Amino acid sequence: MPSCRVFVVSGLFLAASARLPAQNFDTIQIRTQALVQGLYMLQGAGGNIGLAVGDDAVFVVDDQYAPLTPKILAAIGAVTPKPVRFVVNTHWHFDHTGGNENMGKAGALLVAHENVRRRMSAGQFIEALNRQEPAAPPDALPVVTFTAGLTFHINGDSVVVAHVPPAHTDGDAIVFFTKANVIHMGDLFQSAGLPFVDLSSGGSIHGIISAAEAGIAMANAQTKIIPGHGPLADRARLQAYRDMVVALRDRMRAEIAAGKTLEQVQAARITADYERDWPGGQGSHDRFVRLAYQELSRR
Ligand SMILES: [Zn+2]
Repeated sequence: MPSCRVFVVSGLFLAASARLPAQNFDTIQIRTQALVQGLYMLQGAGGNIGLAVGDDAVFVVDDQYAPLTPKILAAIGAVTPKPVRFVVNTHWHFDHTGGNENMGKAGALLVAHENVRRRMSAGQFIEALNRQEPAAPPDALPVVTFTAGLTFHINGDSVVVAHVPPAHTDGDAIVFFTKANVIHMGDLFQSAGLPFVDLSSGGSIHGIISAAEAGIAMANAQTKIIPGHGPLADRARLQAYRDMVVALRDRMRAEIAAGKTLEQVQAARITADYERDWPGGQGSHDRFVRLAYQELSRR
């Protein structure tokens, strides 16, 4: 998959550029990609959706934006006549939880880390995006929350939902379909760009690295890995991402140790080597540098 340069610029990539016009969901199509028997990736706008179907339950990972729910349910309906029983959120961001209220009202049980519920319950300001998110309506909140993780025993599989230490936010989870050998990484992994470390939601670049390592440890060479954004990936791509983030963290540390200002580090273009293979969305490299400087220059 590293050779594939086509990716969806959406969600937090798009939101990073405040002057872009508001997103028109009318034109969004949901594309369904079959991964293995009973497992799919759905792409529309916002975070990639994982879908598992089988004898026991329709199980969904993340649900994009509320206006897309009818299209998402239609795409699921093309795969199975059964209703959605579970929705797991990989983290609280609006482009991954926007469909929660609709999905919950349609009968799905909403599940997420306790910090997802805590942040959605109150208004949140995402400093890096200069974006104010209002408190979510009560029906959009996760009904079941976990701290370390939990396992779903459904469809002949064991679906492990594992919280990781603060990384993209402080409520991230990796979802591992152990028998199907499919992993959904949420925004811990962008398969076509640099990570977004949401410091105002408790994120940390160190956590991004250790979460990538956790995903690598779960995977083998055949594992299909769904990133939060970007095309379907594999362990080699996740390894390359982890190595890139380590290299960039070390470069940033060296720049800070040399007493450079943010403006000087920006001028040094320390991410330039990665612009071809990890282009990301508009402004995402600038944002990465700004946030890495902010975090790593803390005393
Ligand atoms: Zn996110």
